[in-house]
Amino acid sequence: MRTGESATILKVLGHGGFRRRIMEMGFVRGKKVEVVLNAPLHDPIVYRIMDYEISLRRSEARMIEVITHEEAEQLLDEQWSGEATEVKLERLINQRSKRINVALVGNPNSGKTSLFNAISGSREHVGNYSGVTVDAKRGYCTHRGYRFEITDLPGTYALTAYTPEELYVRRHLAEHTPDVIVNTVVASNLERNLYLTTELIDLNPRMIVALNMYDELEASGAAIDYENLGRMMGVPMVPVVARSGRGIEQLLDTVIAVYENQDERVRHIHIGQGPVVEAGIQPLANALRDSRNELPQAFPPRYLAMKLLENDAYVIEQLNRYPKYAEWRSIAEREAQRIKNQLGEDVETAFANQKYGFI
Ligand code: GDP
Ligand code: MG
Repeated sequence: MRTGESATILKVLGHGGFRRRIMEMGFVRGKKVEVVLNAPLHDPIVYRIMDYEISLRRSEARMIEVITHEEAEQLLDEQWSGEATEVKLERLINQRSKRINVALVGNPNSGKTSLFNAISGSREHVGNYSGVTVDAKRGYCTHRGYRFEITDLPGTYALTAYTPEELYVRRHLAEHTPDVIVNTVVASNLERNLYLTTELIDLNPRMIVALNMYDELEASGAAIDYENLGRMMGVPMVPVVARSGRGIEQLLDTVIAVYENQDERVRHIHIGQGPVVEAGIQPLANALRDSRNELPQAFPPRYLAMKLLENDAYVIEQLNRYPKYAEWRSIAEREAQRIKNQLGEDVETAFANQKYGFI
């Protein structure tokens, strides 16, 4: 938005801590916002919202989706003729803010494409065991007045930077910041599948788990107390059979509830890394939090701290242009070395062990 322009807020993207902070400042759906000062390339941008002025960094403003009043007027001329302008504007905002971007993330062969087909009515090829092309497919559906835009992402076991698939998924989550992640988990193989879930939890996104292939679990005579499991992990879980479409309505209803912040099972948990590792994460996360307004807002500081300790190439690429990078880097190197000396294993191995321990 340029200086003097006004708009209405549709949604706030980014990790949970960021969204809460921004919404507490008054940047919530339906509120009118006006730009008091936006000097190109200069931080901060000054906005007027609910009769007071507030400054945001560009990195923060980027995560707030709006419809400008100019844009709205154009659209209003084309739709709903014969109604009062305010009524039409309200309808338009209502319609626009009910678009939910959903990313399907899960292990290879966990049924992502089957679920994608079941939701969007597409007929993408399923069961592609080899020769995976690294790309994403888009599908659409409408449910209870909400428009879902679903992206079928490549299968991954983790979110480290080592395979093209993992890098692709992480970039997608960082750059497209989906509103809700649907994590497909094979119900009969929780131990391995939940590893990726713990990786996703670290990103503090809005997320639900689709407990897929529930038919196979039932056929084996087993059952999962998914209600409690979901509460414990802070991630609502819905049993589904992607191949037959069973549970899809419940799944979409849960996506809506999570998107609207109305599912009381949602809670952000920190997966504790044990005293030795936590003593390394905390000073680094605190140093990052001191600059939190400037940092990329897709992922939380604790996650960035963990990745710096791991010497993760993708996060380094994100952070190395900051003036404080050298300071963060030296804390990370010192702490990674200390952890290695004390535990006799590198940070990455320690993280993986703690996560499996948690699972
Ligand atoms: P993707 O690799 O995650 O995209 O997984 P696919 O959708 O290609 O599915 C992998 C295999 O699991 C295919 O053979 C599917 O037919 C099968 N599958 C998917 N969903 C279900 C389900 O709910 N129940 C059962 N029994 N099989 C399923
Ligand atoms: Mg697939």
